[in-house]
Amino acid sequence: MSETEYDVVIVGAGFAGMYMLHKVRALGLSVRVYEAGDGVGGTWYWNRYPGARCDVESMDYSYSFSPELEQDWEWTERYPRQPEILRYAEHVADRFDLRRDIAFNSRVSAAAYDEGAGRWRLTVNDERVSARYVVMATGCLSVPKWPEVDGIGSFRGRVFHTAQWPHEGVDFTGRRVAVIGTGSSGIQSIPHIAAQAAHTTVFQRTANYSIPARHGPLDPREQKEIKTRYRELRQEARMSASGVPRPMPTKSALEVDPAERERVFWEGWTRGGLFGISGAYTDIRSDQAANDTAAEFIRARIRETVTDPERAETLSPRDHPFATKRPCLDTDYYQTYNRDDVDLVDLKKTPLAEITAAGVRTSDGEYAVDDVVFATGFDAMTGALLAVDPVGRDGVRLSDKWSAGPRAYLGLGMAGFPNLFTVTGPGSPSVLSNMMVSIEQHVEWIAQCLADLNGARIEPAPDAEDAWVAHVRDVGAETLFPKANSWYMGANVPGKPRVFMPYVGGVGAYRETCDRVTANGYEGFVIS
Ligand code: FAD
Ligand code: NAP
Repeated sequence: MSETEYDVVIVGAGFAGMYMLHKVRALGLSVRVYEAGDGVGGTWYWNRYPGARCDVESMDYSYSFSPELEQDWEWTERYPRQPEILRYAEHVADRFDLRRDIAFNSRVSAAAYDEGAGRWRLTVNDERVSARYVVMATGCLSVPKWPEVDGIGSFRGRVFHTAQWPHEGVDFTGRRVAVIGTGSSGIQSIPHIAAQAAHTTVFQRTANYSIPARHGPLDPREQKEIKTRYRELRQEARMSASGVPRPMPTKSALEVDPAERERVFWEGWTRGGLFGISGAYTDIRSDQAANDTAAEFIRARIRETVTDPERAETLSPRDHPFATKRPCLDTDYYQTYNRDDVDLVDLKKTPLAEITAAGVRTSDGEYAVDDVVFATGFDAMTGALLAVDPVGRDGVRLSDKWSAGPRAYLGLGMAGFPNLFTVTGPGSPSVLSNMMVSIEQHVEWIAQCLADLNGARIEPAPDAEDAWVAHVRDVGAETLFPKANSWYMGANVPGKPRVFMPYVGGVGAYRETCDRVTANGYEGFVIS
């Protein structure tokens, strides 16, 4: 079979793959992007469920690489909705003429390194392709996770997953709907589904902490003002802890008096957003007693909002510290449980047994429904990479190398896998940050590296990788994150090794590390 050859193959056409293409083109290298979907945008192409929106504010969740794009694009809302972000991705694709180098409906199913030729050989649908360098821009949250429950195929009604939502939308009018899952996707979609359906039953396994988004239109004057200061704000974001320009806390939650702490938490609750409470004090994510103050503040708001005390208690998280699962932002989530046409089933008390022809059965009985919506999340961070399961030097598969959890140097590459780069891979800040900032940082680092390599081979040194993996683990262990059964820990997928996968050392500090590696001649990498 004939083989098409490129200098660089990029897998995925979300924000990472799109920007990577733009940068590789500028290097004058031949390049092809393969994307499983039939359009650009990645996350925002697939996740079209009602209420889907970003919870980083529009003005921050956007590319910074083109000042002209930055000035021209007008966001309409404080947090952008999925259709608006998708329009933005499509605008970027058109503006930079990206589509001519992207093959859509093209899934990379295999990749193996041919050491003799110094090339990666890939299978894309039925086609064979080879490249000197491969960039996996496959996304951290791109492999939907279905629940491990029998009978889905036997259900007579309609079945949806939030991450594979029909493009034409779904009408729930007059239907009895089951929603399984109360992570960010469930919390965003449940109020919308409940507003339309005849009856909604939410199946909750773990109660989650959610904070009001306080969403609304973006004031054009504010947008204009931000645009005049964009360069300065972007730089602040790049050097910040989580990729968003904001003042950093200086005090412990335990050193201020309780009334002052309550005032600060109220401020965060009233303003809305990801960091008002989680970022109010230095130790919310690292000290259990400090965390308890924030957790109890949120539980008090749930009790105030939900009129039925038993239901309020079911919705109150008590088994993990606040912000050790991704904090959720909502619009009217808790209020939805005051509706007469909404029921809540506590799967901790009555576990999910099976999906039947007529609906959902728990240990307590059967709930007859017309539609089931799975908001059950993703095989996060490693899922898309392991689905391709690249075969590196000496025939070693990534799944073998990662059998005890992901191992990568800086989240950018893996020892034994020459010339293979990952964007926002495990061991980088990625999902703990405003991902646009982390994506741009990785893409720019990889592009600079490709330019410097000038065709040479690069691979992390095993000892540098070991040291980085240990550092990622040690920094994670200083926080409360390992206490939660979160997808950050791989805990949502049965059998997945329990390892805290992202790097919690901060976006700015991490960038400095990467820059130092480059300045020291790609310290920790072997170039040949
Ligand atoms: P993706 O957007 O996931 O793109 C990866 C692409 O690769 C996909 O299109 C996929 O089809 C393709 N692909 C994967 N494997 C293959 C293969 N083998 N062959 C071919 N193509 C393949 N981040 C934030 O910072 N703030 C937020 O508020 C936020 N909200 C989110 C809301 C939702 C519902 C979800 C799911 C994620 C959210 N994220 C958020 C994270 C979001 O994933 C990132 O912000 C960003 O969009 C990731 O871009 P990406 O290009 O790295 O990956
Ligand atoms: P998620 O956070 O992993 O939530 C999945 C939900 O499904 C959890 O409540 C989980 O319960 C439940 N679940 C999973 N398997 C189950 C089973 N077998 N039986 C019963 N319940 C089950 O997934 P998500 O909501 O799609 O969000 C994933 C990530 O995407 C977020 O953390 C965030 O990073 C991103 N996201 C962001 C936004 C946003 O607001 N910007 C919106 C959506 C997604 P357990 O908790 O018990 O596992």
